[in-house]
Amino acid sequence: MSINSKKMSAENRSQLVAEMRKEEQQRQSGYREQALKLFPHVCARCGREFEGQKIRELTVHHVDHNHDNNPPSGSNWALLCIYCHDHEHTRGVQEDREDDNPDDRQKQDSLSHSPFAALGKQLKQKP
Ligand SMILES: [Zn+2]
Ligand SMILES: [Zn+2]
Repeated sequence: MSINSKKMSAENRSQLVAEMRKEEQQRQSGYREQALKLFPHVCARCGREFEGQKIRELTVHHVDHNHDNNPPSGSNWALLCIYCHDHEHTRGVQEDREDDNPDDRQKQDSLSHSPFAALGKQLKQKP
């Protein structure tokens, strides 16, 4: 009985993960379709036009870089071709690095090098 219930919960968990992934994909394709309806199929940066099969190269950029911020008015979306989209994010990263406090970066690095140490602390804090 206990073996069965263990198996059940594992299956439920992977099912849940699969459903979450599906929802995420639907959400993403959802706002892309909305943005494509809302805006002309032109890259907002280089002005190239996209039609037919080429429209796959046109992607939705989130102006505030928050993919969860999807107002139906489209105020957080910009249609960018994959090249300009790439450039837009690379530029953002470089700007972030200049503003970055070196102390913060070191902290982040040490955390990512020892994920289990952080996890151990969290576990100990719980009663
Ligand atoms: Zn472009
Ligand atoms: Zn983007």
